[in-house]
Amino acid sequence: MASAGNPLRRVPKVDELLRRPALAALLGSYPRPLVLGALDAALERLRGDLRAGRGDGRDGRLAERVEEETAAELRRSGGMRLRRVVNATGVVLHTGLGRAPLASEAVQAAAEALGRYCLLEVDEETGKRGRRESAVAELLARLLGAEAATAVNNNAGATFLALNTVAEGREAILSRGELVEIGGAFRMPDVMARSGARLVEVGTTNRTYLEDYRRAVTERTGCLLKVHRSNFRIEGFAHEVGIEELAALGKELRIPVLHDLGSGRILAEAGGVLAEEPLVQASLRSGCDLVFFSGDKLLGGPQAGVLVGRKEAVERCRANPLFRALRLDKGTLAALEATLRIYLEGPEAASRIPTLRMLLAPLEEVAAAAQRIAEGIVRLGTKGLEVKVEEDTSRAGSGSAPEAPLPTRVVALRSGRLSAEALLARLREGEPPVFARVRDDAVALDPRTLLPGDEEALLAALRASLAP
Ligand SMILES: *Cc1c(COP(=O)(O)O)cnc(C)c1O
Repeated sequence: MASAGNPLRRVPKVDELLRRPALAALLGSYPRPLVLGALDAALERLRGDLRAGRGDGRDGRLAERVEEETAAELRRSGGMRLRRVVNATGVVLHTGLGRAPLASEAVQAAAEALGRYCLLEVDEETGKRGRRESAVAELLARLLGAEAATAVNNNAGATFLALNTVAEGREAILSRGELVEIGGAFRMPDVMARSGARLVEVGTTNRTYLEDYRRAVTERTGCLLKVHRSNFRIEGFAHEVGIEELAALGKELRIPVLHDLGSGRILAEAGGVLAEEPLVQASLRSGCDLVFFSGDKLLGGPQAGVLVGRKEAVERCRANPLFRALRLDKGTLAALEATLRIYLEGPEAASRIPTLRMLLAPLEEVAAAAQRIAEGIVRLGTKGLEVKVEEDTSRAGSGSAPEAPLPTRVVALRSGRLSAEALLARLREGEPPVFARVRDDAVALDPRTLLPGDEEALLAALRASLAP
């Protein structure tokens, strides 16, 4: 049906296109099906345009156009999804950006374990089958003074496992002030229901007393549960029962006491923003049966749910068939082991853990970085861009220390041409993508959450995205 004058006849063929150097190069960088998919889509758009009479292809630039669109599409969507980004949001444990970045020792340990065979479940002396998490368990017990320890996939898993082990088919007593939603579809009542424990709420939203728990105990009670509020506070006319009191009541009535700590601070020496957070060791000293927390919040390790406490309670959790479903993979175990070994060296070594280093970075250090970055941006010579260093606050994130002020200095960018939202969107689309926040009509770049190499990457990405 195509006549001699039909512009559709000028559309280049796929195999011709693939022989062009630019497309051949794309085949070296992206999997073939992705290149072919992007190429097909570009050709389809071109045919649509020609059919609609937009252009006739006589300029001979059809192949170039297809080539450019294919390359642009692959740059946009063909690369690794889990690739590096620059976190300039000032939110240290940013759930959307992967929470805790690992210490370099932990990264190396994980890479080694994943890329090779490792001593995962064999004992090197006897050659017999061992427990995959035994090294991590020993380190945790030593660091925290716990009778026993283990670890699973995340703290949601630890909560689920602990409740299912201790209180399946029985009642779990929890204060109404601690019926929390952590975010990402983790609501304590829902997790409890799935674990098979029946929730018994006591007290009121703002006030719960020891007597409330005592009165709720019956022969059906499986455990007393305390949950760290993590992401909010109750202030004013308020009362809650501390873990010491609750653990004592559990001991008196012979009922297991569980403590979901969420953020899991184990660095006793640290002040500042960390001083706000309950210490895992204090919870253990209270004598409760099981304490659990995340590996990738204040601990600064990989995603994991750490369970520590009484030997009998930990062993029961390990013997639960669900333990197998929640078990950690070798890469995570290696990263967790390496992270815990840093803690074992003492409080100074903890600065090698990026999460802690960022949270404890002195204001002068952050301010100096902000100044350096601001000067770097000015040197890029971007016209119409106002660059200022301003006061602001960073946040711990992931529901850790929600109220603790973390003073910072940000580089505030105001563009004459672009709204702050538009500028932010450009930065997100850059390479590497840069994440920042908007405040007072400015894009605020917080150096607190920059990792080594990020300053340079940030400037390079800015140069590209601010080019007119
Ligand atoms: C964060 C949190 C959880 C969930 O932990 P994940 O490791 O994200 O699964 C559970 N409980 C509390 C109190 C938390 O703060």
